[in-house]
Amino acid sequence: MSTAVVVGSGPNGLAAAVRLARAGVAVTVLEAAATIGGGTRTSELTPGLRHDHCSATHPMAVGSPFLRTLDLGRHGLRWCLPEIDCVHPLDSGEAGVLRRSVRETADGLGPVDGRRWRRLFGPLAEGFDALAEDFLGPLTRVPHHPLLMARFGTAALLPATAVARVWRSDTARALYGGAAAHAFRPLDRPVTAAIGVSIIAAGHRHGWPVAAGGSRAITDALAALLGELGGRIETGVRVRSPAQLPPADVVLFDLAPGAVADILGDRLPPRVARAYRRYRHGPAAFKVDFAVEGGVPWTNEAARRAGTVHLGGTFEEVAATERAVHAGRMPERPFMLVGQQYLADPGRSNGDVHPVWTYAHVPYGYAGDATGAIVRQIERFAPGFSERVVGRAVRGPAALEAYDPNYVGGDIVTGANTVRQLLSRPRLALDPYSTGVAGMYLCSAATPPGAGAHGMCGAHAAASALRYLRRGRAPA
Ligand SMILES: Cc1cc2nc3c(=O)[nH]c(=O)nc-3n(C[C@H](O)[C@H](O)[C@H](O)COP(=O)(O)OP(=O)(O)OC[C@H]3O[C@@H](n4cnc5c(N)ncnc54)[C@H](O)[C@@H]3O)c2cc1C
Repeated sequence: MSTAVVVGSGPNGLAAAVRLARAGVAVTVLEAAATIGGGTRTSELTPGLRHDHCSATHPMAVGSPFLRTLDLGRHGLRWCLPEIDCVHPLDSGEAGVLRRSVRETADGLGPVDGRRWRRLFGPLAEGFDALAEDFLGPLTRVPHHPLLMARFGTAALLPATAVARVWRSDTARALYGGAAAHAFRPLDRPVTAAIGVSIIAAGHRHGWPVAAGGSRAITDALAALLGELGGRIETGVRVRSPAQLPPADVVLFDLAPGAVADILGDRLPPRVARAYRRYRHGPAAFKVDFAVEGGVPWTNEAARRAGTVHLGGTFEEVAATERAVHAGRMPERPFMLVGQQYLADPGRSNGDVHPVWTYAHVPYGYAGDATGAIVRQIERFAPGFSERVVGRAVRGPAALEAYDPNYVGGDIVTGANTVRQLLSRPRLALDPYSTGVAGMYLCSAATPPGAGAHGMCGAHAAASALRYLRRGRAPA
């Protein structure tokens, strides 16, 4: 029987472990923290409330071609949908409102913008599941669905600023801009349209769901399935050198490239070591979880029913703050996300006190305190918010990195979404998962298709490892 070690138990580490175990490989997962889950952990950060430490909303996980094969519902994973997926309010009191239905979203944007929304997102939403097989993997492969990919690519390869010109109204432009800002990149750079286009299309196909009980349910379900397949997980083991790795035919690292370069040292081929050391991290997140009595008093009524609220004003304002953050300047009014997971999953609340998840985009490694900016930005669209806050838990970039070393400098997407790294992360190679050391692979969000709790990086890395095992361990 072949053996594998997976270092790190984030959604990608566990997805890799499950794929290997299903193929009959004996798998051991080593996790540095006391609990599994990486960016999907959930706990009582404030008394009596269930807060998601990192990932909150999962359009890509529910649409993940790999996770969907696993029947994780059998292990307790249940998706809950909010009434409205996402709202982007403006100072005027109006808002862009993203609903599951393309038609209903378009109807809310007026006749001209609505028609254009339908024209762009209708076919992408309809073809999303087929499309996901292509774009949730290395983009250097020949696509299975070339026509759909061409349609997606026509929009995705553009800067978000170019796609935003499709719409006339501030609400439509802001709705799209908030989604595009998930790229953590100045919106006038090429390919920044890709992430916004894909999460909106995913939402129109599957919604923006949360996991019942908290995001940890995703990795708890993967861990339960792994256990059923005979895999083992050891927590509290921080791997710092190859000497700590038990003997195994293949090793997969659910880590940032720099960490793998540190661990493997001169075992890495010099060209790979150079590429891993040069791998770029992007701007950071500053996270504040609030306990809020009675919920957030949004001026815009739809925002009170939305799972996610994007804050940052107009498209132009979001574009300016993203540019500032990228240049290392902290904006007064940063782009930020507010998660109201409890609306879809009321069990997370304690009576009328609710967990409200927020983070702002801040510069890489930002050492200041963004809590005040976050509270002011919420107050801008929900006057009276701060009077309702009865508890909070704060994590800036350094604390995020200490919590999970994959978030270098607070970069929660494990690698800047530069054109090069969007198209070929972590390095340009036929097999981007290979470390260049026979039998050793990278499987984290630093590999294609990048960040998100969808497990696709792990699934593809495990496929590479399985090919190696089937070849009788001869490097390709
Ligand atoms: C604040 C925040 C908000 C987010 N929001 C969303 C969202 O709403 N939706 C979404 O889909 N995604 C979101 N993400 C991103 C998502 O959480 C990550 O992309 C995803 O968790 C990446 O999975 P991974 O398995 O690659 O790595 P991780 O989840 O980071 O897991 C890596 C694991 O490796 C362990 N580890 C690190 N070094 C070592 C070592 N040397 N030895 C042993 N173990 C080690 C870590 O402890 C960790 O458990 C968010 C992330 C953050 C931080």
